[in-house]
Amino acid sequence: MSNLFTDSTSGLQYKVVIGMESHVQVLSQSKAFCGCANSYGGIPNSRTCPSCLALPGALPRVNKRLFEAAIMLGQAFGCTINKQTGFARKSYSYPDLTKGYQITQTAPICTGGAIEIELDGGVKHIHLVGLHMEEDVGKTLKLEDSGEIYLDYNRCGAPLLEVVSQPEISNANEAVAYAMALRELVRYTGIGNGDMEEGSLRLDANINLHIHKDGQVYKTPIAEVKNMNSFKAIKQAINYEISRQLKEWQETGITMSHPNGIKTTRRYDDSSESTIFMRKKGILDDYRFCPEPDLKTTTLNAEWLKQLQAKVGELPLAKRRRLKASYGLSDFDVETLTAERELVNYYEEALNACANPKRLANWLLTELLGKLKTAGLTITSPQSIPPSGLAALVNLIEEGKVNGKQAKELFEVMFSTGKEPIILIKELNFTNVNDETVIKSFIAEVLAENPQAISDYAAGKSNALKFLMGMVMKKSKGQANPEEASRLLEAELRRE
Ligand SMILES: [Zn+2]
Repeated sequence: MSNLFTDSTSGLQYKVVIGMESHVQVLSQSKAFCGCANSYGGIPNSRTCPSCLALPGALPRVNKRLFEAAIMLGQAFGCTINKQTGFARKSYSYPDLTKGYQITQTAPICTGGAIEIELDGGVKHIHLVGLHMEEDVGKTLKLEDSGEIYLDYNRCGAPLLEVVSQPEISNANEAVAYAMALRELVRYTGIGNGDMEEGSLRLDANINLHIHKDGQVYKTPIAEVKNMNSFKAIKQAINYEISRQLKEWQETGITMSHPNGIKTTRRYDDSSESTIFMRKKGILDDYRFCPEPDLKTTTLNAEWLKQLQAKVGELPLAKRRRLKASYGLSDFDVETLTAERELVNYYEEALNACANPKRLANWLLTELLGKLKTAGLTITSPQSIPPSGLAALVNLIEEGKVNGKQAKELFEVMFSTGKEPIILIKELNFTNVNDETVIKSFIAEVLAENPQAISDYAAGKSNALKFLMGMVMKKSKGQANPEEASRLLEAELRRE
């Protein structure tokens, strides 16, 4: 597959090169290096302490959960997990960075690995540089009219994982697929909520173009685009940036090796759907990285590593492929099932006790999910039907012990009472609808009461059969198995 595009106006041929840097906020009780609560929003500066405010003499201590999250996400990416790992200080001055430095890592806890994306039926692996642990900074709020600046340190010290990809993404659609796959793994491993709107998952794209002209390749200066807080924003920002860089190169001819070709930071602006220049990037040495003297190098316990790796289990993409291949489920079924880990866990648990995987999926995805949504509940709510209950219901349909109408009724009562379907069948006085003698007795009564319909049937009037069938179902109060009743009725009529 060639990644070479041709610009329709200039005829220029170019390749798009994108690398992603993502910040994942870790779901945890406390912050990365102190005991303050780690949550979103709230009264400004209500979750701070001497450590995250960097008061003199306050020392950091490591949150084990940060390591756990890093290892689990690293496992999901197939990274090498480095058994010995330590922290570093990245010094820079910014109002919302109380300490004047950020605790981060220069040697990441996880290296290598990849994120697999599926696009237009093809599969591509976007390889990773790795992922490292660090802390978040506070928030600066500038009032538009007065120009006053307010600082909120609630987010200061919140646990973060930074995931850095290799520059292997070659267009906006791939970037979106990458972001979606990353968010799915973050949610699936339970390490974060991946909410892009509230900034729990922040993606920055480093973009430039390799323009091919007259046998030469010209590389445009790299722009790092920030503030893309939705999948739509990622797509628009990248497409905008591609046209902007093409135009700029045509006008100035500046490439990344030119003294003015320095990397810049831009932000995506939702209202104008464009990227806006923010600043020129400093070179790496500006940060004065040094080992964090207040935190020791950690050696990871091999047993703990194994437990965490096992906890990650089968990944959503592999699960989708397996469920599709093994049970004949549709793309829609497997995508909906694996959208939440709890949901697919429920399905697989029910499947252990169920004879029809497709029917089970239908009942789960339409009936149960619909009911839960209306009731404002989730699949894990105690009020939901347990997997064994739904499996039992599907089995009853499968064995012909209840018909479609009865199954719906059973389902409603199961949901409201929490009782097992086997018990409810008796309580609801459902006849054993497959019982031939019972059905035959209904048929005998109906035929005795409707001699005209029998003659009509004999005369070849097809409506007569429908009419008689309706009467049999009515007599059984809708409880006869329709297929069985129809078979027996026709047999009886042929004998008349
Ligand atoms: Zn604190």
